[in-house]
Amino acid sequence: MRALINIDYTRDFIASDGALTCGAPGQAIEREIARLTKEFAEAGDYVVFAVDVHDKDDRFHPETKLFPPHNIRGTEGRDLYGELGVLYESIRRLPNVRYMDKTRYSAFTGTDLDLKLRERGISEIHLVGVCTDICVLHTAVDAYHRNYKIVVHEKAVASFDPAGHEWALRHYRNCLGAEVV
Ligand code: ZN
Repeated sequence: MRALINIDYTRDFIASDGALTCGAPGQAIEREIARLTKEFAEAGDYVVFAVDVHDKDDRFHPETKLFPPHNIRGTEGRDLYGELGVLYESIRRLPNVRYMDKTRYSAFTGTDLDLKLRERGISEIHLVGVCTDICVLHTAVDAYHRNYKIVVHEKAVASFDPAGHEWALRHYRNCLGAEVV
């Protein structure tokens, strides 16, 4: 059994005027991330939208020192971007599609993702979204520690940092035993 974990493809991370945007590299994967998500959802595979959320002026959160405010709860910056946002509206009621909040880079940290995957007998997770070298990476590392087989879709991940993107793709292959397709 397999699942698609769809990470942080929101307005704040992708739109040109997003609060913490990947910019052009993020926008370049719009079609592919929507295509893959549709394919998995229609095949009946488990599809999880793991979406960053922050509270305004949260001085205790570690990201507050590192990044400008982004994906603030209740703002449109958290809306899924472009084609993926449109697709989400048409698949959100399917029983195999789930939207979940996450508050850290990894979709496993402080969430019930691991339980949801194990309940369903899922051992293989497919990763798409942004950033290749931050949230997608930290999710992959946690998946590795939990013995999941990992598949990263190269044309559906992106970063604002080209060197970080390339490094992370090598790290997935060489250190996490992931298939990069
Ligand atoms: Zn964040």
